[in-house]
Amino acid sequence: MLPIHPNLKGKVAVVTGGGGVLCSCMAKELARQGMKVAILNRTMEKAEKVQQDIAEQGGEALAVSCNVLDIDSVKQAAETILSVYGPCDVLINGAGGNHPQGITTKEMLERQDIENQNILTFFDLTADGFKYVFDLNILGTVIPTQIFLKQMVGKGGTIINISSMSAPRPMTNVPAYSAAKAGIENFTKWLAVHVAEAGIRVNAIAPGFFLTKQNERLLKHPDGSYTERTEKILSHTPMRRLGNPEDLLGTLLWLVDERTSGFVTGITVPVDGGFLAYSGV
Ligand code: NAD
Repeated sequence: MLPIHPNLKGKVAVVTGGGGVLCSCMAKELARQGMKVAILNRTMEKAEKVQQDIAEQGGEALAVSCNVLDIDSVKQAAETILSVYGPCDVLINGAGGNHPQGITTKEMLERQDIENQNILTFFDLTADGFKYVFDLNILGTVIPTQIFLKQMVGKGGTIINISSMSAPRPMTNVPAYSAAKAGIENFTKWLAVHVAEAGIRVNAIAPGFFLTKQNERLLKHPDGSYTERTEKILSHTPMRRLGNPEDLLGTLLWLVDERTSGFVTGITVPVDGGFLAYSGV
């Protein structure tokens, strides 16, 4: 169990995508630290399940139905949270993901694949697929940031965005996701500079490879065995395993606590078992 950060007690955390695998784990840890945690999720049942889990652990949480791409929905969520908990101190922009029409079937283009109906080449990817992924990851971060950051100006606060290993070096098959996450890292730096004098810190966490709903079909066969892609990931991960959501928590607490990272802003921290450091040779 991680040490308690007394500085976080009683503060308000807003976690978008808080019903998902990685961010529900973050929400539960922030609640264990004594924070009041608002869990925003498009699918309300997922947020309610996390709220219930937190309540059972004796923590304080509020499930809020929210689509991060719908400004009115985020504004409504912000008003609800403000009236119940007060202004936001920590925003975690966790909602994100991929779309089948932004994913190629094969890693490399081969000429004969272009006519093959069973293979999605780069040419088959749709503008709608790209737009879905760009919107969800980029606007889905920008919109909640605009709305919750306003509550932090004048009193301070911190924002954590969620990047990916595909930002610094794009992963095969997922061009839309890779470009979107690269955009998140760029935006993290931009915003960190923009709000530094207002006393707000902005950082990102780049998880390595974690098995979740979002990537289940890429990482596991229907029978539960690992795909060739997972074997490749493991062979490029010096620590030779996939991440567990709990692996993110130490970095999260360090970044959200003013006392431990008060002079840190504009960075992205990889939590990846060494994946980024390894050239493969
Ligand atoms: P997940 O699918 O379990 O969680 C994402 C959550 O976001 C889901 O609960 C989903 O309902 C919610 N969501 C989706 N669209 C939404 C919207 N428009 N409005 C509100 N909520 C919405 O996935 P996860 O793996 O836990 O992903 C969390 C974050 O971590 C994402 O940004 C993802 O890109 C990133 N990430 C994941 C991995 C990994 O290995 N799983 C690696 C790097 C980065």
